[in-house]
Amino acid sequence: MKFADVLGNTEVKQTLIAGINAGRVPHAQLFVSREGGGNLAMALAYAQYIFCADKRENDSCGVCDGCRKMLRLVHPDLFMAMPGSKRESDPKEWSSKHFIEPFREAVLANPYLSLEDWLEHTGLQDKVVSINAQTANEIVHDMQMKSFLGSYKICLIWLPELFYPTAVPKLLKIIEEPPANTLFLLVSENPDKIMATILSRTQTVKLNKIPDFEIMDALMNRFGVEMQRAQEIVNISDGDYNRAKWLSNEESNSQSVNLFREWMLAVYQGNIPQLLQFSEKFHGENHDVQKNFLVYALHLFRESIIKVSGAEDLARNTSSERVFLEKFAKTINPEAIIEIRGVIDDMVWQLDRHANAKMLMTALSLRMVPIFVKKK
Ligand SMILES: [Zn+2]
Repeated sequence: MKFADVLGNTEVKQTLIAGINAGRVPHAQLFVSREGGGNLAMALAYAQYIFCADKRENDSCGVCDGCRKMLRLVHPDLFMAMPGSKRESDPKEWSSKHFIEPFREAVLANPYLSLEDWLEHTGLQDKVVSINAQTANEIVHDMQMKSFLGSYKICLIWLPELFYPTAVPKLLKIIEEPPANTLFLLVSENPDKIMATILSRTQTVKLNKIPDFEIMDALMNRFGVEMQRAQEIVNISDGDYNRAKWLSNEESNSQSVNLFREWMLAVYQGNIPQLLQFSEKFHGENHDVQKNFLVYALHLFRESIIKVSGAEDLARNTSSERVFLEKFAKTINPEAIIEIRGVIDDMVWQLDRHANAKMLMTALSLRMVPIFVKKK
């Protein structure tokens, strides 16, 4: 990964590059960002720059042998450790090494991936995952070997907050005093949960929130998302590029669209038992589906207001949505819809703070019923 492919944090990149070029390479660094904030992408770009044989002023070259190996995550001097758990096919002494292939796949597909994505990718959703003691043994062993290509050896540890407690003591010495030309890049979303003994041995590289305009630009230019929808997605993604990408995915949308239809039907009928049942169902969906549902609701409400106001040139909808909006727009009161949009925005905020999804959804539904049933 090149620095150019990492969103935001221009100053952080410059500081990292200047450090390497001045020979100031701390032996243990902790890359911190919120989820979807690019900490892993930044650490990979950093490692690639270190390994690059033809460093440019602002980035790695992207074409030398070291870069090409990094672009496929197969550089022999890159050791990667990540949380896992014993699967049926794994030996009793499983370690991160058993997850290296799926990890390459997942990171190459999306260097902004979340722990949730990773668990889904590996089928470990119901397991307690950790970076275990066996992995720590292997880190200590491998990092003491000579580098294959004669430059640095880099150990990248994704989510050190998930170290199993017995793994940590094994690593303290090597992180404190690693062999020559050996670097540790730890990549964390929750530094508060990292053991203090590890934390105190690392230098923190803190990433700032990715600016909304950069995420919007990426959604529009890389994924062809319409401006208005990109704006709505950005508003609720709160700097989480991984979530923004997910929300912009058409396929993942269809689930939310169906949910929306089901919900609105119950609202029209003023069917309280069914709305309560819907809240249960909403509660059972994962966080992304819940948020996507709300983005979609915001989108359709906006489109319905435009329809009512007759400003058709501002409309951004698909043909199936137009059919829906024909009828839907006749039932709405634009002022009430604007108010509801505010309620939904607030709901997104609360969901992010782990408020109870069922209660939020029930409150929203009960607020919707009088608006729509009255107009019928
Ligand atoms: Zn290069």
